[in-house]
Amino acid sequence: MDKALEMAGQTKAAEVSQGALKSTPALFKKFFPGEKAVVITDQFVWTAAGEAVYNIMNAEGVPCEKFVIPDKSFHAEWKYVEMIEDVLKQYDAIAIAVGSGVINDVCKLASHRLGKRYICIASAASADGYTASGSAIVKDGSKQTFICPTPLVIIGDSDVLRNAPARLTVAGYADLAAKVPASGEWMIADLFGTEPINPPAWSAIHDMLPELLADAQGVAERSVKAVENVFAGLAMSGVAMQIANDTRPVSCAEHLYSHILDMTGHTFEDRIVLHGFQVSVGTVTMCAFFDELLKMDLTQIDVDKCVAAWPTKEQEIARATELFKNFPVPELGPTEISKKWQSPEEVREQLTRVKQTWPEFREKLRQQVYTYEKMRDLFVTAGAPVEPTQIGVSRAQWASNTHLVQLMRWRINLFDLAKRVQIFDTLHARVFGKGGVLEA
Ligand SMILES: [Zn+2]
Repeated sequence: MDKALEMAGQTKAAEVSQGALKSTPALFKKFFPGEKAVVITDQFVWTAAGEAVYNIMNAEGVPCEKFVIPDKSFHAEWKYVEMIEDVLKQYDAIAIAVGSGVINDVCKLASHRLGKRYICIASAASADGYTASGSAIVKDGSKQTFICPTPLVIIGDSDVLRNAPARLTVAGYADLAAKVPASGEWMIADLFGTEPINPPAWSAIHDMLPELLADAQGVAERSVKAVENVFAGLAMSGVAMQIANDTRPVSCAEHLYSHILDMTGHTFEDRIVLHGFQVSVGTVTMCAFFDELLKMDLTQIDVDKCVAAWPTKEQEIARATELFKNFPVPELGPTEISKKWQSPEEVREQLTRVKQTWPEFREKLRQQVYTYEKMRDLFVTAGAPVEPTQIGVSRAQWASNTHLVQLMRWRINLFDLAKRVQIFDTLHARVFGKGGVLEA
């Protein structure tokens, strides 16, 4: 982790351990010598961790104020960024953000707007945004990502993380596991030459990932080690984003299933489904698609025939316009596919590469991507959903969303390979059709 942090260059120290809170004063003095601190948190986290941090800072003689966001329930909205900015100005202090992704995001942006850095103390191992260089904030009604530096110091205390609601850790685990199929899709983009693999970013996540994901039972029981593993994995995912300066290392098609639900305002049992739970169903779905893809013998591709069948850009835009006509953002599909579409010459070259390298490439994908069965078993053990109906979406709807997933982002995914090889419909039928693991 230290090596990766050094490479990423933004977060200077990460402390992940049982009792890590106690190192806050020493880390603060080291990285913010002579400065004053203000603990920023919400009402729930104040009791769970904020108060302890406040007390220990003052006990160690570091001047420290506190600010507890008065609202009971809140989102990462612009008004909180302004609220925190005022607090930081009023005390002329450095923020110690104690909380989940929302608190972290507002403190990250507020600090940046004042030219300051800050410390983040995570209250749940639920998201990979803690160490990402950006804040997702709702401004003027739409969610926007504001680029800003990460916390200078990140602290994960397993005693605190374990006491977060269980579902948050499970959701974090699933979001971490999403990096498995996402990496297989990155390998496809790399083979296609559109987004080459960035080795340091890859290694920041994947050197440790199998080990971090192995103990699903520990996640279910919230063992110290398992919770630390999830937190460390998510923190490293943020670091990988910093290194690549892109989200490519951490997300692909499995996240797009989740984006559809976010953009259509999907709720289940009157609640927004946790990001990690949406992603977990996307993740097993993509593992099922990889299973079917890897059964194919792509050394047999008829490149000429596939290139002849390759649609024109206008045809693809028309297809996307039709598919997205009832979507809240109808222009999304046409816009993204017009960025993603490639010429017949480029497609020919990609198909030739697939055909020539398939035996080795398939083997590499097999080594990298978990089977549907393996991923499903891990999720079932941890307590994450594996089935669209568990998050309030029918299998038929999920199958139909897959057509949107292929088109809704310019980034190359498994489905783009399938479209080029003219096997998309076959794979779709094998996953969602009769006898498929997600038979609709
Ligand atoms: Zn995610």
